[in-house]
Amino acid sequence: MKEINNELWVFIECFKSGKPKNIGLELLNEANRITKNKNIKVVALIFGYKLSNAIKTVIFSKADKIIYIDNINLQNYTTALYTHNFYNLVKKYKPHSILIGATSIGRDMAPRLSCRLNTGLTADCTSIKIEEDNNNILWTRPTFGGNLMAEIICNNNYPQMGTIRAGVFKKPILDTNRESLLIEEDYIPCENKIELLGEILDSENEEINLEEAKIIVSAGLGVKNEKGLNLVRELASTLGASLGASRAVVDENLISRIHQVGQTGKNVSPKIYIACGISGAIQHIVAMKTSDIIIAINTDEEAPIFDYADYKIVGDIFEILPLLINEIKSKKIKNLNY
Ligand code: FAD
Repeated sequence: MKEINNELWVFIECFKSGKPKNIGLELLNEANRITKNKNIKVVALIFGYKLSNAIKTVIFSKADKIIYIDNINLQNYTTALYTHNFYNLVKKYKPHSILIGATSIGRDMAPRLSCRLNTGLTADCTSIKIEEDNNNILWTRPTFGGNLMAEIICNNNYPQMGTIRAGVFKKPILDTNRESLLIEEDYIPCENKIELLGEILDSENEEINLEEAKIIVSAGLGVKNEKGLNLVRELASTLGASLGASRAVVDENLISRIHQVGQTGKNVSPKIYIACGISGAIQHIVAMKTSDIIIAINTDEEAPIFDYADYKIVGDIFEILPLLINEIKSKKIKNLNY
């Protein structure tokens, strides 16, 4: 692409209901942060159906411009249709760079898009910066099994594209006074060889939807066995929280990998993260340290997790968790009596 517009695009992925997923809003927030005082416009791109609420949320999250296609054919993600419509918009508007969430949709669509656009793609990034003198994006991603962080630049290739993990940036604080320029684009059909046979919904509230969770109670190897894990599970259900786990617990086959928080699991950023018997290895910390409040329970007062904790409970989970569960349950009863 010869003429490039100074626009940083953020793809806003939506649930089937039209509600935007956290990942797009997190990227929007970071896009606004890194472009502050620079001559770069932040543009949100939204695909889906019945998008009025999504558009409102994105306006309140801050975007200079919103380009959207509201069409029933885009209600469910399909590789061909999303890629084709995205590609046409990039050709039309010629953005400088594009941020896409490293979700299953982003990981499927972004490589196809970059290939069609004949540009580079840095996958699975954990941070981004803009170079001072030339506005190149500096993409950072783990490499060699997470033992090294690589900084990658795709200069002279436009748009500069990357996928970014969920949960590494904070969501923006909504401001109802904000406004954005809205551009509605037409849906452009194309050949689609994929037939939708059925669907397994990406639940908005389900226990294992860690990336969207407001409260996560997470089990480490300190739980020791099924009995310990059940205590963590009970605390999670008492609080209406999602259940997370360290990789050590997953490796012990106590819980499925879908619950794993960490560098090789999910990145999370809940309001409250309760770490039960988790030591605080860096591969775990990188993926949960942006949580608003971290509460750690550990028998070892020197455990590294305490360096990141807002509330520290030095103690045995087999003693602490039943007390906590009972206390929370009794508080709920009291509240209900009010
Ligand atoms: P441990 O380190 O064994 O800690 C158990 C903790 O429980 C200890 O601090 C102990 O004091 C405490 N404890 C023991 N008994 C009790 C009790 N009764 N009550 C309270 N506390 C108690 N890890 C991840 O979590 N996620 C990842 O995605 C991940 N990716 C990795 C990728 C790579 C390339 C590598 C090399 C490692 C990765 N790891 C990951 C593993 C990571 O390095 C740690 O080994 C792992 O996080 C440790 O899990 P843990 O804290 O549950 O167990």
